[in-house]
Amino acid sequence: MTGRVTLLGAGPGDPELLTLLGKRRLAEADVILYDRLVNPSLLAFSKSTAQRVDVGKLPHFHKVKQTAINQLLVDYAQAGQRVVRLKAGDPYVFGRGGEEAQFLTANHVPCEVVSGLTSAITGLAAVGIPITHRDYASSFHVITGHHQSGGRQLDWDNIAHQEGTLVFLMGMAALNDICTQLQANGRAATTPVAIIQWATQWRQRLVTGTLADIEARVIAAKIGAPALIVVGDVVKLSRELQPTQPLQGQHVLLPYSAHSRLAPALQDQGATVDFFDREVPAAIDFTLPDLSQVATLVVTDGRAYDYFLKRLLAAGQDQRSLAHLRIVAANSAVAKHLRRQGLLADDVTATPQTAHALVIGEAGRMPTGGLATYRLTTVATPITWELAEFQAIIFPSSQSVHDFHQDLHGAQLSLIAMGPRVQAALQERGATAQLISTNREDILAFLKGVKQHGQDGNSIS
Ligand code: SAH
Repeated sequence: MTGRVTLLGAGPGDPELLTLLGKRRLAEADVILYDRLVNPSLLAFSKSTAQRVDVGKLPHFHKVKQTAINQLLVDYAQAGQRVVRLKAGDPYVFGRGGEEAQFLTANHVPCEVVSGLTSAITGLAAVGIPITHRDYASSFHVITGHHQSGGRQLDWDNIAHQEGTLVFLMGMAALNDICTQLQANGRAATTPVAIIQWATQWRQRLVTGTLADIEARVIAAKIGAPALIVVGDVVKLSRELQPTQPLQGQHVLLPYSAHSRLAPALQDQGATVDFFDREVPAAIDFTLPDLSQVATLVVTDGRAYDYFLKRLLAAGQDQRSLAHLRIVAANSAVAKHLRRQGLLADDVTATPQTAHALVIGEAGRMPTGGLATYRLTTVATPITWELAEFQAIIFPSSQSVHDFHQDLHGAQLSLIAMGPRVQAALQERGATAQLISTNREDILAFLKGVKQHGQDGNSIS
């Protein structure tokens, strides 16, 4: 059976700018092919079993690679896979989406296109530039700045004489040529120009100037591809309309468990949030022992008891079946947990007598003869993060410190511990928390003061 290929528009980068259909297709995909322009955070919407293929295109191998990508799409689909070809922005705005669709159709592979927000419009809005405006531009023109050798050349006379906004994609290597040609064909040297790099992402940067001086400004600010080059009077509006969110440019790492509680508060203030691996408990289908043969129940952790109770109930029994047992909790936290479940521990000890005892706990952390009632499985984030890309990590619990697998030694970023226990857990790993607070307002205020990487070069003029 032939699968299907979805040419999926990822939007300019902010994962929340993906369409609803795009999100669903990512979640359904068996294979995802993406390239370096796509924000890797989007892969978090995919199944943990999905195969992810980075087809990162190197400029000089473009032609060879495209043929290989086309063939890969066909091969995966013909093997019955649901394939997503994840493309930056909109699949049909440059980026060869049209060619891929033609190749698939010619090979009788079912193919659909899911539009995305193009960087050519949304990227401008992200820095306060409306692509049209009644006073400044009544049309816009999206132009490639990348010339294929021997390919079609741009009609500079025509382009320079358009009254609307000009947006060049893939144009950074040709910036000098673009500015020179526009002026040579009649555009004033004072025409406003904006360069927007990594629009809508935490690493977004903006440099503005004129046709005469933008190149020097770009060099001074050390800004490069991928970027949009915007030419026209609408650029002036960025001074007035550029969003000024307090956490703009902050990139924060959180455990997945905090995705609904903490992430929106940070995102609404302009921060970008990504998540790290999480451990989730899963029940083990164990055989309920004959409780009449047991004198003591030793509970090594609270969750183990919850799973034990579930199993008991599933077998048509309840806590009354434990009435004859001596209940031993491994520590006071377990005793507290049992109490909440309506069970008082007779003893709290880390070294209980185990003769005629049933010891319950987590798989892999049990003495021999113990009964594992659940196991923890790591649900890996599909992305391996470089810690250098983040300004801060928030640890809401000691569990989250435990779940964090990367080395924190010498990491150049702020660690936020939500409470003294979390601070202690970090200390055990040789790391120091910069802020210890459970208060969301404190955290937001702290993040506002955290210095962003490369902030010095973030010039807006
Ligand atoms: N299909 C894409 C464009 C692909 S061509 C779209 O609709 O946006 C690749 C070019 O797009 C890059 O060289 C750059 O000029 C531009 N681009 C894509 N995403 C961008 C982003 N987040 N910020 C700035 N430029 C971006």
